[in-house]
Amino acid sequence: MENVECIRKLTFCAGHRVLGHESKCANAHGHNYSVFIHAVAERLDELGRVIDFSIIKQEIGTWLDTHWDHTFLVYEKDTELISCRNILEKNKEIFICDFNPTAENLALYLINTVCPDLLSKKGVRVTKIELHETENCKVIVEKK
Ligand SMILES: [Zn+2]
Repeated sequence: MENVECIRKLTFCAGHRVLGHESKCANAHGHNYSVFIHAVAERLDELGRVIDFSIIKQEIGTWLDTHWDHTFLVYEKDTELISCRNILEKNKEIFICDFNPTAENLALYLINTVCPDLLSKKGVRVTKIELHETENCKVIVEKK
């Protein structure tokens, strides 16, 4: 039996810092993130698709634009950075996470929370997320 995956790339720009990091990632900085969403369905639709690529963009891309793009992803325990809110927030709120905003944790949040909330109702399951922080650094989380 073949496994058919639909993969949609999405991008966003965000700032973060890794609380407790041993080196340069302890500084507030930003990335042009790329995310690859891998979706599967029980069966292909009548046109022969897992899902239309544009639906993933509409659902997940809109969520990313609204919540993560052009803002800071801040760990709720990072009180120092949260205290700079009035500087970080001009026309958009920072995104407070209950996890340190590493690429791994961001990808886990997408696969465990955002994608099921937005795509389950469309009849697809996201089995894998690739999140690229830079051209050289990416993480992959996969549902077994
Ligand atoms: Zn970083």
